[in-house]
This record gives sequence, C-alpha cells and structure tokens, in this order.
Amino acid sequence: MTGPRPRPEVLKIAPYVAGESKTPGANRVVKLSSNEGAFGVPPGAAAAAAAVAQELHRYPDGGSAELRRAIGVRFGLDPARIVCGTGSDELIQHLCHIYGGPGSDILMSMHGFTMYQIAGTYAGSRVIKVPERDLTADVDAILAAVTPATRLVFLANPNNPTGSLLAQSAVVRLRRGLPDAVLLVLDAAYAEYVDQAEYDAGAALVDAGDNTVMLRTFSKVFGLGGLRVGWAYAPAGVVDALNRVRGVFNVNLAAQAAAVAALAEPQWVERSRAHNSEWRARLSAALQAVGIKVWPSQGNFVLADFATAARAAAADAWLRQRGIIVRAMGAYDLPHCLRITVGTAEDCALMAETLHGFMGSPGAEL
Ligand SMILES: *Cc1c(COP(=O)(O)O)cnc(C)c1O
Repeated sequence: MTGPRPRPEVLKIAPYVAGESKTPGANRVVKLSSNEGAFGVPPGAAAAAAAVAQELHRYPDGGSAELRRAIGVRFGLDPARIVCGTGSDELIQHLCHIYGGPGSDILMSMHGFTMYQIAGTYAGSRVIKVPERDLTADVDAILAAVTPATRLVFLANPNNPTGSLLAQSAVVRLRRGLPDAVLLVLDAAYAEYVDQAEYDAGAALVDAGDNTVMLRTFSKVFGLGGLRVGWAYAPAGVVDALNRVRGVFNVNLAAQAAAVAALAEPQWVERSRAHNSEWRARLSAALQAVGIKVWPSQGNFVLADFATAARAAAADAWLRQRGIIVRAMGAYDLPHCLRITVGTAEDCALMAETLHGFMGSPGAEL
C-alpha cells in the first residue's frame, strides 16, 4: 500500500446507513424509513424553489440573512444568534471539530442519533455512549460519565430512534450538573411533533448561559430533507466559531428560498402536528392490539419492539415484500426493533393491516 492513507479515526467510522427508498419487485413503494414529513413539500416552498431556477448561476447569500431573519420572526429569536447549515448534520460536524478533537470525550446516550458518533469520531474525540433507562436518556448516568476530558454532550430531544423525551426540568438539571466549559447540544429535530407538556426545544437554556446550543431542521415537519437546511440557535461565542468554519455558501439558493417560503406556509405545522398526534396514537394502538410492543414516542415515528432480532428481521422482510420500507435498527443496537415513520392515514392503515398479517404468519414465531 503506497497510496494516501486516511487518519486512523476515519477508518473507525461505520458509514451512515440512510433509509432505503427502493425494494426489489415492488412497483409501488411506501417509504416510512426516514421520518420525512407525512404531507410532502409545502406547496409554497416547491414554488419558491422552482422560481429561482433562472438565478442558479448566482451564488447564494453566504450569510443566509433573509432565512435567518424569517426564522427569527417565526420563533421569536435574534437572527444574529442563528447559524444556518447544510442540514443540521453540517452543524453537528462543526461543533464536534470546534469543541472536540484528540484527547477529548463526547457524550451521547446509548441509543442516540448516530451522526454524533460519526462526527465526534471524525473530529478525533472519544465518543462515549451512556446507558439509558427504558430507552430514555438518563441524566444521572450522563453526569456520572463526565470527566475533565468531556467537551460536548449531545442530547436529541425527542430522541431518534427511540422517540423518548426528557422533560424540561430534567434537561435543566442536566445543564446545571455539567461543568460550564462543556457544551450541551440540544438537537430538537422533532420539536414540532411534541405534544407533551413541560417541553422546551432549547432556546430557554441557550438564552440562560453561554454553553448550550439548540439545533433545528427543515428536514422533518417542513418537508425539505432533499434541500438540506438546518440551523443552530447559539450563544455569541459559538455563533462566531461556527461562522469561521462552516461552508461559506453552505445553504444553496433554492434551499434558502424554499425554507423561507416553508416558514410562511399557512397552517402547515399545525396541520402536520395534529395529524401526527392522532395517527402516532392510532398506529401505536393498532400495533399493540396485534401483540407488538410500541415505545412511547414524541416524534413523527414509533419504535416497534418485536422482542427478538429474528422476528424483527422477518417483519422487515414481510413489509418489504409488500413494498413497505421501514428502518432496521441494528446500527442503533436495537436489532429487535423497527422504526416506523408516521405517514399519511392511508400509510398507517396499510402498516397496521400488514403487520397484523405478519403476526399471524410463521415469521412471528421467531
Ligand atoms: C433527522 C434528524 C436531524 C436532521 O438532520 P438534517 O441534517 O437537518 O437533515 C438531526 N437530528 C436528528 C436526531 C434527526 O433525527
């Protein structure tokens, strides 16, 4: 071997496995594997993206100023404290490189979002997965795992793929228990779907100090995963650091236009939230009625627990044969589970009926 060799930590990273969108032999595919919004693209956002087609020779605004202003208006936040990214994934990467690196530790919960592990390892940090309690982040266990080497703590709230939520009082207790020099990253990709009381997506803690960041995305409820837009609301020092290292033109022209339009789409979030609360509950009840355990979820997905890895794999195969794609959970150390996105009413009914069929089949004996 004489060619260039990657840094050793790069080869420690298992590539992210995205939700699949095809299954052989099925002519109609129902994709419920990536937590994309149930209602597709907001019509105004699609029109806005199309409208910039004749401007594509122009660089976008590198500071995403109009988008940050629109986010600020919508969420009541200071645009100067917002940084947009190529999805929140880009911001996760930069935070790991800015605050982590060789000799440092990054904490995440055992079944937290895998991007934290990928980005943290790439930065050269040791990524420590802290045990959970009932598939929910355990504040005491996280605090007990802190050492002088700890630089970042990632918490997805609600968490993907478990759907679990920490109440605001627990998040505040986490922040209070962490050293001031540790950055707490609250990833609220699913904030819009939460219907439990006592929740704050993170802005309150960002405002309360200089060591907490909130991440949000346009990929879920706003239906723009294909354009890659996310944002951070952060203390001034973190904003300054992110702006030094992020891609200079990281949010492309169509993405900025579509995201601004999505924020202006009347009733989009309200309708999506109402649909999700209703059908998340109905789908969960239907699966439980046929003997499948479903973990409580505050996201736009549920974690169906088949008790054994063999039964979960058989259920996955059964669904695929019928053109339905969900997410296998081996990469999350939950091989006995499948994560199922809450789709349209029709998708949910089809899922319930198909899994009912599965539970009466030989695969359910595994
Ligand atoms: C989907 C998701 C994101 C969003 O990623 P983007 O890069 O903005 O598409 C971030 N965090 C979690 C936990 C997610 O599930």
